[in-house]
Amino acid sequence: GIQSLIQKLTLIHPSFQFETEVQSVMKTPLAIGEQHFEQVMLIILDNAVKYSPNETNIHIKATAHKDMDMLKIVIKDRGIGIPKEDLLHVTDRFYRVERARSRERGGNGLGLSIAKRIVEKYDGKLMIQSEYSKGTEVTISLPIASRSKSSE
Ligand code: ATP
Repeated sequence: GIQSLIQKLTLIHPSFQFETEVQSVMKTPLAIGEQHFEQVMLIILDNAVKYSPNETNIHIKATAHKDMDMLKIVIKDRGIGIPKEDLLHVTDRFYRVERARSRERGGNGLGLSIAKRIVEKYDGKLMIQSEYSKGTEVTISLPIASRSKSSE
């Protein structure tokens, strides 16, 4: 689940603090497979770390919709942000903002396109909001497994 994943991430990036507002609803099984969930979270959190100054907090918040059929996870950083004209393209394969700027940070522009494809495969949504030089907010919505299908 997300809690053990966050513990793992804190070990990988000891200089970062992950603020969490994880509710008991997180124990509800998601339609997405555990490995795919971890892959998506790692891609988004790795970006948050990569494109933020050292020692800044990355905020992770998880909430369930009122009808309990979707789980929403918001990952927010106060890093370099994404210019408006690039925002629509960052989930394209191989797209990177300002190649020179991000080359030193490694990566090949695949992460977010993979994350989006995985999330959509499970009928979820991946949305990105960002303000250049202020920070970025990635929101993923994922269907909760047990209720969504059986109650219909
Ligand atoms: P990788 O394939 O290793 O993930 P990448 O980070 O370049 O490499 P994506 O994860 O697809 O590739 O991201 C695409 C681009 O979007 C990045 O190059 C970066 O410019 C921008 N980006 C993604 N996440 C953030 C973020 N949290 N803050 C600022 N820019 C971001």
